[in-house]
Formats: sequence, C-alpha cells, structure tokens
Amino acid sequence: MALPATPLKEPTMDNRLLEILVCPLCKSKLEYDRNAQELICHADKLAYPIRDGIPVMLADEARQTVPGRVVTPVDPVDPAPPAA
Ligand SMILES: [Zn+2]
Repeated sequence: MALPATPLKEPTMDNRLLEILVCPLCKSKLEYDRNAQELICHADKLAYPIRDGIPVMLADEARQTVPGRVVTPVDPVDPAPPAA
C-alpha cells in the first residue's frame, strides 16, 4: 500500500516551533538563523544545527559562535596559511 505524497512537512522552520524552543542549557530564547540553518543562543554563544528542518538541541552538537567578536588566545592557530 503506497502512501500518497502529502505536502505536510515543510523544509523550513515553523515560527511557532521557534517560540517554544529554548536553549537546553540556559533556557533562554533562541534566534533562528535561516541562512546558516542554526538556532543561536546569544547567552551561551552557541549555535544549534537544524538538520532536515529538525533542530538538534544538543550542546554537544552545537558550535561556538561569537557574533561581532572573535575571542582569540595569545597564540593564534593558523592551520591553512595562504600560498605565497
Ligand atoms: Zn543558552
């Protein structure tokens, strides 16, 4: 029995879903970055990835984000120097 194709699932995040989503660490509201497909917690400076329209609310999966400011220690790492 084949199921008919139902256009129920949308690839984009639902704004109502966004309103109930909070950071699992600090419980503050998240900002949706549509371009990066990430949910950003400004308090923790973490960006939670959205995979296939499903937010991955795991601190382990989140990447650190520092908007407008790069925190670099005294010894900067340069893994790929430009070719001279
Ligand atoms: Zn947070």
